[in-house]
Order: sequence, then C-alpha cells, then structure tokens
Amino acid sequence: EDPPEPYHKIVYQGSGGKIPLGLKSRGSRIVVTGGAGFVGSHLVDRLIKRGDSVIVVDNFFTGNKENVMHHFGNPNFELIRHDVVEPLLLEVDQIYHLACPASPVHYKYNPTNVVGTLNMLGLAKRVGARFLLTSTSEVYGDPLQHPQKETYWGNVNPIGVRSCYDEGKRTAETLTMDYHRGAGVEVRIARIFNTYGPRMCIDDGRVVSNLVAQALRKEPMTVYGDGKQTRSFQFVSDLVEGLMRLMEGEHVGPFNLGNPGEFTMLELAEVVQQTIDPNAKIEFRPNTEDDPHKRKPDISRAKELLGWEPKVPLRKGLPMMVKDFRQRIFGDHNKDAS
Ligand code: NAD
Ligand code: UDP
Ligand code: UDP
Repeated sequence: EDPPEPYHKIVYQGSGGKIPLGLKSRGSRIVVTGGAGFVGSHLVDRLIKRGDSVIVVDNFFTGNKENVMHHFGNPNFELIRHDVVEPLLLEVDQIYHLACPASPVHYKYNPTNVVGTLNMLGLAKRVGARFLLTSTSEVYGDPLQHPQKETYWGNVNPIGVRSCYDEGKRTAETLTMDYHRGAGVEVRIARIFNTYGPRMCIDDGRVVSNLVAQALRKEPMTVYGDGKQTRSFQFVSDLVEGLMRLMEGEHVGPFNLGNPGEFTMLELAEVVQQTIDPNAKIEFRPNTEDDPHKRKPDISRAKELLGWEPKVPLRKGLPMMVKDFRQRIFGDHNKDAS
C-alpha cells in the first residue's frame, strides 16, 4: 500500500521560482489565502515580523478582519476581499494557500478546495511562485493505520457527510502534485492535524473551542458518542513554525504537522475542567456520522527533514487560548477576572 517512490523528493525544481532553494526569503512578497482566519492570521504575524510583504486574500467566510486589524497602516501589509473560487492576478514569490471553509458546520457549502486550489496553482505557475497547500489529517479518513504515516493512503468514505472536506483536500493534493510534475511548479504539502489556540472561531463546532466556550459560559460540555475517540491537539504557534520551515525547506512533502500527544475527548474535557472550572459538567450527545475513532500523527518525517517538532503541550497551550476566549466572550473589562 506504500507508494512506489517517496514523494518528499523533489521531482522538479521549477524554473521561475524567485527564491533560490535553501535561502531565507527575508523580504519576500507573500500571499496568504485565508489569512484572516485562525491559522492564517498567526502565520501573517510571523511573516510581517520577519520583514516580508504580505497580501492577505480572504472572503471573510469564517475569517474576521479583527484577526489582522493590527497590521492596518503597515505598508508591508495588504488585505484583499476576494473569493479564491474566482481567478486572481498578483505578482508574488510565495503562496500559502489556507483558504477553506474548515469547520464541519461551514465546509459543506463551498467548492473552495478544488476550484480555489486550481486558481492558486494557476497563479503560482504564471508567476513562478512557490505554492504551499494546507491539507489535513482528514485525508486519512477513519484510519486503519495508527499512528498515521504520510505513506498511508487513507480510509475515506467518498459519499459521506464529511466527504466534501476530506475528498476536497485529497483532490487539492492531487492537483498540487499534478502542477508540480506537469508544470514544474514548486510545491509544498502540509497535512495538518487538529490545531487550537487564540483567535479560533468560538462557535464553529470544533471540540476544543466548544468545550472551552461551554465551560466559560457555565454550560455543560458536550461530549459526542462515548468520548473514547481520540485526537491529537497542536498549539497554533507550533503549526506556524512547521509551515514556515516547510515553505523555506527543500522537500515537497506531504508532511504531517501535528502534536503526537493523544487524548480521548473525555480526557480533553478533564483538562478543560482543570484549566477553567473543576465543577464543569459533561453532557453526552450522539456522535456525528463517519467520525474517525482515532487520530495521531507520526511526525518522524517532519522531525528528520524539517528539524521540526511541536513544543507546546495541551496543558500549556490551553490556558493561552482560554485567556483569549474569555476576553472575546465576556469583553475586555472582565479580562482579569478568573
Ligand atoms: P479558518 O476558518 O479560521 O480559516 C480559513 C480562512 O479561509 C477564513 O478566514 C475564511 O474566511 C477563508 N476562506 C474560506 N473560503 C474562502 C474563499 N473561497 N476565498 C477566500 N477565502 C476563503 O480555519 P483555519 O483553522 O485557520 O484553517 C486554515 C487551513 O488549515 C484550512 O485550509 C484548513 O483546512 C487547514 N486545517 C486546519 C486545521 C485546524 O485544526 N485548524 C486542521 C487541518 C487543516
Ligand atoms: N489563474 C489565476 N491567476 C493567475 C493565473 C491563473 O487565478 O495568475 C487561474 C485561471 O483562471 C485558471 C486556473 O488558475 O482557472 C488554472 O490556470 P492554468 O493556467 O493552469 O490553466 P488554464 O487556464 O490553462 O486552463
Ligand atoms: N466532539 C465532541 N464535542 C463537541 C464537538 C466535537 O465530543 O462539542 C468530538 C467529535 O465527535 C470528534 C472530536 O470531538 O470525535 C473532534 O471533533 P472536531 O470537529 O473538533 O475535529 P475533527 O473531527 O475534524 O477531528
């Protein structure tokens, strides 16, 4: 079941890439699609700090101007309201492609993963930019291999309720490799595992944001199914570091980027209790269809080839997210209340 040749070897180097491989791209012109979202806005912060010129392209479907507002007025920062499903003309060196309705409540409504990715690959081809796709651990579906290695092909239901996301990202990976092999576009593929942190959408239905918001609001924490399914939770700053190393490095990927620390949903609820409110109640709800039972990244490849591994464990990262959620839910005046 392993692919015959390792995809992490560079097949083509691309002719037009303006950044010589291995060189730090200080002062590059960089597009971040989905840059007003949760992960994108943290990435933009790092790129701006490094001295790059950053153009955020976002249609504010799930993202928010407030996530990037602190850069308004900076001549190195531009924000374009645009749906990547429509073609886009820009001159840039690198494209971080994050635009995607990423949460279960949103992702059913949009062909972004296929059409949007195609457009951004077309843009990369035309201007010779390097293109990074943010794919997902969902390409492994309900995995029969544990932990998941990049060589695993996945176990995805093509017609289930989650398929538009899983299959959309699988198609996006296919398109990315086709542009790489067929048109010589320099590409990078990250498979991101569950990530949490400040600026996460409060009400998008993901488990960490749900449990934290519920515990803060003194509502019962909703655990779906028996709560014994597992996930591995990565703090957003670790992910951003991994994405930048991948973009600057010389390997195509795909690379798993995630924190191998594995928790059941009941264990996660316990950590939320310890962090916010020991008396927070748990309420069981029926689970969604096709919910993966287990998920944990094997990150040996990223460790070896990118020199990357996550630094922030759940118990350290969660309080930083809770601080941000508290401010957004109760307003600034309550920020020092415990
Ligand atoms: P997010 O919803 O906060 O960010 C996505 C951004 O894309 C939003 O700002 C949204 O407005 C924008 N967007 C959506 N459709 C668009 C369109 N058609 N045109 C332009 N902009 C559009 O989600 P996130 O958690 O920051 O995810 C970022 C990327 O990482 C996504 O591609 C997602 O699939 C991937 N990913 C995230 C996780 C995670 O746990 N956060 C896990 C795996 C993969
Ligand atoms: N595209 C874009 N910006 C560009 C170049 C292309 O949005 O700067 C879009 C283009 O509209 C097309 C897609 O990217 O829908 C794929 O482009 P490509 O040139 O690879 O394919 P073609 O247009 O030849 O079918
Ligand atoms: N989940 C839960 N309570 C919630 C939301 C989700 O128990 O309020 C469960 C969900 O059924 C799944 C896990 O948490 O088993 C992770 O769900 P999420 O949507 O955050 O991420 P994904 O399923 O995409 O990994």
